[in-house]
Amino acid sequence: MVAEWLLECSREFAARVDELDELDQILGDGDHGTNMCRGFAAAETLELGPTMHASDALRHVGMALVQNVGGASGPLFGTFFLRVGANWDPSLSTAGLARAVREGVSGVQARGKAEAGDKTMVDALLAAAESLEASAAAGEEPAVALEKSAEGAEAGRDATVEMVAKRGRAALKADVSVGVVDPGAVSMALILRTAVRHIG
Ligand code: ADP
Ligand code: MG
Repeated sequence: MVAEWLLECSREFAARVDELDELDQILGDGDHGTNMCRGFAAAETLELGPTMHASDALRHVGMALVQNVGGASGPLFGTFFLRVGANWDPSLSTAGLARAVREGVSGVQARGKAEAGDKTMVDALLAAAESLEASAAAGEEPAVALEKSAEGAEAGRDATVEMVAKRGRAALKADVSVGVVDPGAVSMALILRTAVRHIG
């Protein structure tokens, strides 16, 4: 399950490398697509055998991202996978997914200090976590909850267009940041969208 999710992420980032580099060219140093592509290509070579637990597989992916994405975003994407893996609930309940994703977001925020509205991947992530929590409270099935959380992440991503950048390299270009979507939020929404097809 994790290996197939990973493979689809890797294919998506390979197809969108230029688009993400161009967004980061406006807001940062132009390497975000290249960074994500390199990280997921490295993660793809991991041997995640069929007997490996999902929580361990997710942690391996996290380590590969920390080691290979580089930049500011590598440790942040890596932390997300590490924390989701460490808090994984093998029953795959909606409440378990909500807890794991919330822990993932908390890890990213503890590390990068970004709050809602700072124009980062956190804006996509927080929307996904809140959506999963609402689904858990409403007793929705995991498949429905994951679909809604991907929609939430995409809405969070789109909301970054109007935000002023306050974190990372983009903060140095805060004056030109309004009107441009945050590339890290695009990547995080993509990761959560692909999860819908593989997790569960
Ligand atoms: P770098 O900024 O080192 O070149 P990337 O270009 O790969 O790294 O990633 C840029 C993305 O990282 C941004 O679009 C943003 O979403 C995310 N980011 C940067 N700093 C932070 C932070 N402190 N917290 C959360 N996300 C961040
Ligand atoms: Mg960059």
